[in-house]
Amino acid sequence: MKVIRAKARNPFGKTKIPGAKFVINQYIGCEHGCRYCYAKFTCKWYDYGEWGKWVVVRENLPELVRGRFVNGWVYMSSVSDAYQPIEAEIELTRRILRNINKNVRLRILTKSDLVLRDIDLLREFKCVEVGLTVNSFDEDLRKEIEPNAPNMERRFRALERLHDAGIRNYGFVSPVIPNLTDLDYVIEQTKDFVEYYIIELLNLKASGEFRYWLKENYPSSYGVMVNELERYVSKIHRVLAKHRVKVEAFVIHSR
Ligand code: SF4
Repeated sequence: MKVIRAKARNPFGKTKIPGAKFVINQYIGCEHGCRYCYAKFTCKWYDYGEWGKWVVVRENLPELVRGRFVNGWVYMSSVSDAYQPIEAEIELTRRILRNINKNVRLRILTKSDLVLRDIDLLREFKCVEVGLTVNSFDEDLRKEIEPNAPNMERRFRALERLHDAGIRNYGFVSPVIPNLTDLDYVIEQTKDFVEYYIIELLNLKASGEFRYWLKENYPSSYGVMVNELERYVSKIHRVLAKHRVKVEAFVIHSR
């Protein structure tokens, strides 16, 4: 893993991500190395090699956030995972959480149960939500397309423990891929302890070479994405109606 140390000028960037006004990116690049990752576009500006093999660490962010307040939801993070493996070692996210104004409204999304380490700090926020990406990929598939991310069971248990700790949580079911993502199963496994869900269909356009990988390895899934999306979306609506869970957003990208 190539680690590049850098300094940020501004702790809070403006964002157009739905549901957030600002973003904190203490890392750029992500060791989880998901094949479909939409943040791979950053490789255009950060020429450090293959996605998943490098991470930029903006080491001054814990100091930059100190004493600052922004009015509006702050999303952590949009071009990385705040709890990727390096975080266990250098505790950059933890130091940001310690220093940041606890009146800031914070929404964290991660694939890692390492977030549980910071429950003590998360409890100090007036308004915080933590999401775990849960998509039901079986272990063989997970190792292939999310090689360094924790397995699904650990993510389910992380959601449960956040709930038990009184932290508002959400299940981010993404990417939803026909025949590979079992939404019914994800909801069954989590509905007793998840506050709400965000559902997102795979963004074929933003997934880069993953589109071709899917076409070659799972042609029927690709075929549904390209030719039968409306029928598949109706099926998802039926699953959601069956469970009557709270869904904050259902994101469908253009093909
Ligand atoms: S965890 Fe998120 S940011 Fe990291 S590689 Fe996977 S999709 Fe990209």
